[in-house]
Amino acid sequence: MKIIVQKFGGTSVSTDERRMKVVDKVKKAISNGYNPVVVVSAMGRKGEPYATDTLLSLIDSKFKQDNKLAVDLLMCCGELISSVVMASALQSKGIEAVPLTGGQAGIITDNKFNDASLKDFNDTRILDILGEGKVPVITGFQGITEDGYFTTLGRGGSDTSAAILGVGLDANEIEIYTDVDGIMTADPRIVEEASLINVLSYDEVFQLADQGAKVIHPNAVEIAKVGNIPIVIKNTMNDCDGTIINSVGDKKNKRLVTSITSHSDRVQVCIKLEDNKGNDRYQDILEIIAENKISLDLINIFPTEQIFTISVSAKDKVINIFNELNINAIIKEDLSTIALVGAGMKGIPGVMAKIYKALYDNKVEVLQTADSHMTIWCLIKTDDLSEAINALHRAFKLC
Ligand code: ADP
Ligand code: MG
Repeated sequence: MKIIVQKFGGTSVSTDERRMKVVDKVKKAISNGYNPVVVVSAMGRKGEPYATDTLLSLIDSKFKQDNKLAVDLLMCCGELISSVVMASALQSKGIEAVPLTGGQAGIITDNKFNDASLKDFNDTRILDILGEGKVPVITGFQGITEDGYFTTLGRGGSDTSAAILGVGLDANEIEIYTDVDGIMTADPRIVEEASLINVLSYDEVFQLADQGAKVIHPNAVEIAKVGNIPIVIKNTMNDCDGTIINSVGDKKNKRLVTSITSHSDRVQVCIKLEDNKGNDRYQDILEIIAENKISLDLINIFPTEQIFTISVSAKDKVINIFNELNINAIIKEDLSTIALVGAGMKGIPGVMAKIYKALYDNKVEVLQTADSHMTIWCLIKTDDLSEAINALHRAFKLC
């Protein structure tokens, strides 16, 4: 059996017209000799009635914090509705379709509600359905614990569901259908002239996704990489070839910088030794923050100061820790990290210089930098974000 997993994001299933485009993609897969396994997200985006954010807006924020199990139950509803509606659209065009929850599809997770991970996958039911010549339409973003509670796989987790199914069923390919033509050189909402990238490696895409490129969930890339199942990202609305993601990437064209992405809502913390004289907890700060499960980025340690960034959601917790320990810190808010990713930058001198010049020439202040073998990060003010990404996009001729 030649299995293909086809995942459709929220905008792809949001209207009758778009769902008919989805039906066309499923039909095409069948006519190409595949047995499609369809995965759907909740219909639409925030503000639309069944989108996950709309459902979440129905409950109190304190309840949300204290009742993660119930929140998962609520968040699962959007995909449940979507899978039945999509199955109905497929049936209306003569394709026998069977809507299934993540749990019914065999996705068993741990009980870390709101951010669960795969524990086990049972392929029996899906293989039976495929064996009968029917198309399973599976709710993305969710699984079930061993004792029967609904869980979700983290926001954007329908991509993760597709990857779990692709690997679990040993599919030929995982197709992720969305509202852009594939992975582009930058978010087309920020850079108008962003161009499509034809081929990328799992590692490059993981970096991009992890650093904020919303187009695919990093966990999905990681799972597909382990199973070595190719992912293709495509536009539901057209027949563009999309972006192929595999283990080798584009061997012929190792560009210095392949794509630029960003994370907003960053906060920079700077703790100076001179402001904390005589406080013996100064040296323990990083350890204490880690014990509180707060993740840090762009960590720079100097003899006289420690600088790092946190997400804005961790700010209050960090300030409370500092108050308890009598630590004086300088906190800068409304910052963003830009990440420039490219497998070709490894060992090539002058990349950082070029970045710095492009930003300086466009009056963008660089607050901090870091680099690894395929990524360079710059911390800047969020107000400068669009200007900075566009300037870097031009400087590296990504159009
Ligand atoms: P879906 O609902 O289909 O899962 P998402 O909104 O999660 O769609 O992801 C698609 C969005 O990702 C695009 O609309 C685009 O704005 C954004 N995006 C961010 N970075 C990139 C990039 N480098 N290439 C393509 N799209 C990107
Ligand atoms: Mg998504």
